[in-house]
Amino acid sequence: MRLSLLLQLAWRQSAIRLTVYFAAALAVGLALGKPWWALGIAVAVLAARGYWRLYRVLRFLDWRRQLRTVDGQGLWAALETLIHRRQTENRQRSRRLVGLLRAYRQAATAMPDGALVVGRRSGDLVWFNKAARGLVGLRYPQSLGKRLADVFADSPRVATWLAAGRPDDVFADVPAPDDPGRRLSLRLIDYSPTQWLVVVRDVTRLTRLEQVRRDFVANVSHELRTPLTVVHGYLDLIEPEAHPELAPMVLEMRRQSERMARLVEDLLTLSRLEAQDELPEEPVPLAPLLDSLRGEAEALSRGRHTIVIDDGAGADLLGSAKDLHSAFSNLVANAVRYTPTGGTVTIHTTRDDDGGLQLAVADTGPGIPAEHLPRLTERFYRVSTSRSRESGGTGLGLAIVKHVLGLHGARLEIASEAGRGSVFSCHFGRGRVVGRVASGE
Ligand code: ADP
Repeated sequence: MRLSLLLQLAWRQSAIRLTVYFAAALAVGLALGKPWWALGIAVAVLAARGYWRLYRVLRFLDWRRQLRTVDGQGLWAALETLIHRRQTENRQRSRRLVGLLRAYRQAATAMPDGALVVGRRSGDLVWFNKAARGLVGLRYPQSLGKRLADVFADSPRVATWLAAGRPDDVFADVPAPDDPGRRLSLRLIDYSPTQWLVVVRDVTRLTRLEQVRRDFVANVSHELRTPLTVVHGYLDLIEPEAHPELAPMVLEMRRQSERMARLVEDLLTLSRLEAQDELPEEPVPLAPLLDSLRGEAEALSRGRHTIVIDDGAGADLLGSAKDLHSAFSNLVANAVRYTPTGGTVTIHTTRDDDGGLQLAVADTGPGIPAEHLPRLTERFYRVSTSRSRESGGTGLGLAIVKHVLGLHGARLEIASEAGRGSVFSCHFGRGRVVGRVASGE
């Protein structure tokens, strides 16, 4: 390792000074006729001075004080200069870090969203910003150390959500602990290995708007139901055979009013699903469900397709039988409606590697080009509007499927290749799977 210029100089100065010092001591000793005595005293003085400088350096290091002055030249002075330089650098660094820390804290405190730092294991509140105090009704410092689950004691699902610990998971709507009229959303951020950052937002306005939208759609659909039933009833009374000149018109009116009725029913189903955030947890035996799906597929197909059922899962589901039936039946209806005559529709169940269960509906239809797949579950999104209308589609089927699966914590996967068919598979987590239920139905 190369010595720095400072050290080289110090070495040289020290060597010269020591030589001069001992030469002078020797000269004095020789002059007095006691050279050994003189050298001995010179060594003792040197040692005492060395100890004094060492003491001085140690004292400053021990007191963590800034070494202000550097005495003289030579090795000791070089040591003090180096210490002084390091101390100054460290001081500047820590000042910069403290400044940064203060700026981060101020930013986190000034954030309009509430921010809570929560211990991962204990669920205790470690820190929260000003906005969190107002939003969640926390008090500083009394609330520190409280469990977040206890803060939201009236909403026990918050504790389950926190315990599940899924990063970036949003708990969409929870009443504020001190004011149930205020609605909050909580988002879990993976912030450190030992702590979660929970970002709290006031979504009262958003929830209210969402509610207004939902109510509006539900009310309009509900209001349309009665007039539609009346129109439908009168249309049924008209015999097309009795009025051959009106027959095409009457048949088209019947078709359209049936489509409107289906649209209204689907809209009402969607509103009901949206308003729901919990489900009955009843066992849903798959064998009778698959039988009923087969019946529906055959009725819709009227012999134009081969319907195959393969119940390989050997297990049943836990959830809402009615909603699951409605979701699967939408998938089956799509498969039959979009697959040309002579095609095959297969409904099969299998177990996933992680202990979950999958129900898939595969067809040999036209398939769906890849660019449409991400948007397929949006309301009224259609690959081909005319084909959907021709086949009696409402454009809401897959939106209903997505909602039902969401309520069951399940996901929909769509695999399709244009010209080769599509597979719509519903994946249910392990928690939704139960052993075969003895079904009396
Ligand atoms: P729709 O009532 O129009 O069928 P859905 O929400 O059920 O509405 O489906 C949305 C769109 O997805 C359909 O319009 C159709 O273009 C496409 N689609 C759904 N299922 C299939 C399928 N099995 N094969 C081909 N296209 C499909």
